[in-house]
Amino acid sequence: MSTHHVGIGMTSQRTRARMIARLREQGITDEVVLAAMEVVPRHIFVDEALASRAYEDIALPIGFGQTISQPYIVARMLQLLRSGHALGRVLEIGTGCGYQTAVLAKLAKEVYSVERIAPLLNKAKQTLRELRVYGPRLRHADGTMGLAEVGPFDGIVMAAAATHVPEELLEQLAPGGRLVLPLGVNEQFLTMFEHTAEGITETVLEPVKFVPLKPGVS
Ligand code: SAH
Repeated sequence: MSTHHVGIGMTSQRTRARMIARLREQGITDEVVLAAMEVVPRHIFVDEALASRAYEDIALPIGFGQTISQPYIVARMLQLLRSGHALGRVLEIGTGCGYQTAVLAKLAKEVYSVERIAPLLNKAKQTLRELRVYGPRLRHADGTMGLAEVGPFDGIVMAAAATHVPEELLEQLAPGGRLVLPLGVNEQFLTMFEHTAEGITETVLEPVKFVPLKPGVS
């Protein structure tokens, strides 16, 4: 951890505990997700000037027109992804600042994360290293097609909104696996696909607002 974060570091434990209490009030019940979010220092992932706001339930800018998702939505998506089960291999599409990646590292045995914007990925790598989070494997790539050479995955979580579900992602779900993503053309809905014995099921949940999934890398 770099020294310029020390000041807020002293109060962040208490601030995080308050964030966890708020997540509970908002309906998050998965203790494993709550415990993970209680220990990952969210303020380290945002710009120093915004660090004091890191534990508020808001999305914050992380550069390049992108945002770190609000704590509630991270908790909600990871709770859906787990559905009460331990996770083996997981794919995250849209590393962004790497915050959710760090939380995932505490929930899954193997984490792969892909990001299309190189400077964001490099910054995320650096932050994860600073925090000694060495597990996740980060890749500079367009995640739309998933990672066929690595899959199948027990969970796939996408942090950018797609207009339709990429067929490749459904194909990379292991039996029992779940794909959680914001989906929609005009309005986005948090959507979960599950690979069940009867085939792929789709559950449409609440409306959400995410940055759009974009093709290619930059
Ligand atoms: N979980 C991140 C969210 C970042 S916002 C965080 O907490 O910081 C969504 C991210 O998805 C952005 O960084 C954006 O560049 C990335 N993204 C958008 N389309 C993508 C694609 N096709 N492949 C990989 N990443 C993508």
